[in-house]
Amino acid sequence: MKFLVHTYGCQMNVRDSEAVEALMLAAGYEKAADESEADIVIVNSCTVRDMAERKAVGKCGNLIAAKEGRGRACRPATAEAGRACRPATAAIKIVGLMGCAVKRMGTDVFKSLPKLDFAVGPRRFGAIPRLVERCLAGETRILELPDDDEVPTGMDAHAGGASFQSYVTVLLGCDNRCSYCIVPDVRGHEYSRPAREVVAEVRALAARGVKEVCLLGQSVLRYGVRNPAWGPDDPPSPGGYTEAFPRLLEALNAVDGLARIRFTSAHPKGCTDELVRAYAEFPKVCRHLHLPVQSGSDRVLKEMGRRYTRVEYLAAVAKLRAFDPEFAVTTDVIVGYPGETEEDFEATRSLMEEAGFDNAFVFKYSPRPGTRSAALPDDVPTEEKERRDQVLLADQQVRGQARNDRLVGTVREVLVEGPSLRNAARWSGRDSGNRIVVFEPSRPVRIGDLVQVRIREAHPQILIGEI
Ligand code: SAH
Ligand code: SF4
Repeated sequence: MKFLVHTYGCQMNVRDSEAVEALMLAAGYEKAADESEADIVIVNSCTVRDMAERKAVGKCGNLIAAKEGRGRACRPATAEAGRACRPATAAIKIVGLMGCAVKRMGTDVFKSLPKLDFAVGPRRFGAIPRLVERCLAGETRILELPDDDEVPTGMDAHAGGASFQSYVTVLLGCDNRCSYCIVPDVRGHEYSRPAREVVAEVRALAARGVKEVCLLGQSVLRYGVRNPAWGPDDPPSPGGYTEAFPRLLEALNAVDGLARIRFTSAHPKGCTDELVRAYAEFPKVCRHLHLPVQSGSDRVLKEMGRRYTRVEYLAAVAKLRAFDPEFAVTTDVIVGYPGETEEDFEATRSLMEEAGFDNAFVFKYSPRPGTRSAALPDDVPTEEKERRDQVLLADQQVRGQARNDRLVGTVREVLVEGPSLRNAARWSGRDSGNRIVVFEPSRPVRIGDLVQVRIREAHPQILIGEI
């Protein structure tokens, strides 16, 4: 019996999907090469913006249509993945939906998808092999919703294979409650995994050849602040930011065979002196921080409940750059938040310039049911959101070019990821700052090698050089 998992959304979903694959393999199922040979298809959904949810639910609907049409062949030309029409060989028996959209929709999931076999929220993905078994025995429309404090099973399951990079979830849920954000409603309360569990997982990955781990949490620097389940050997967890995260970095820095440690996402309040010290002291910790700012206007930041001002945010960036001028800072920005004026938007533009971001992801505000801001009128017209999005992206292109120009002539340590997608004669990898570096391999290289690349050419999103 073969299965396939389709993933939408963030790195946390990518990680949850990988855990599901590992659990399914352990339960005796095989991974399908593509949809046409899958008996079981599981869609991992996102709900952070309306469009993200629509995509995942729509995909599920198409798969169910394909399942319903079993035995009806179609022309190969139209047999694209996700279309209701599929090759005669297709034999989908079970379609399941997992992840954030399930928790948001609850029982309504069966209103949108009446023929869905199972739906399971985040923090309950460990149940999937059992749910699949029940569906194979004839059950359908099973719904499993996790509690906000649930501790998932199977969190440390990794599918084998020789990947050089791996995600490791260290902090589940979020207790921040930013006004626009649905994440706390769907991913529940914060729970920090015990350090010894994380270290054991990373050791096992390194022993298998993984060179780089990326530690995941919505507000990952809050690791250790709240954990009802910790024992006496784990870091203390009083309120506020603690040293638990820097100490976790220290423990992971000592793992043999591991070359790099990354983590995401961060909140400026977590950019403590201890964190900067960890960057300085532990060489495996990469010099990059994804520090979502959301807005540069103090008025909007206050409405969003972000708990920092523009000045405080810029101070956090300055602290990182004072320690290392090449330190890479990337961000997320929302345009078109309710009531965002031209002046607010210009404040975001100028903050982005002052912060000198190495990269930025811009999102158009999307009201999410049940969040505080959903009660406010979504009053910035779609075309205006689009315009602001384009302006920020154009600014970032210019800024990215300028920032990367300064690196021409420097030597970057690059973890090799594989041949370049655009030009197979070149290889590609990332430097410590998570910058994509494309290079000519003057000697044979392998995926997972660390090589020194001298940069000869800069573009807004990539650096080019030779070993
Ligand atoms: N925990 C992370 C963010 C997770 S959501 C953090 O706070 O750093 C990823 C990004 O989606 C956010 O940074 C934000 O920019 C965007 N986002 C979240 N809710 C949104 C909404 N309702 N509309 C538009 N963008 C949103
Ligand atoms: Fe959402 Fe804010 Fe939590 Fe990030 S910190 S997941 S934006 S509530």
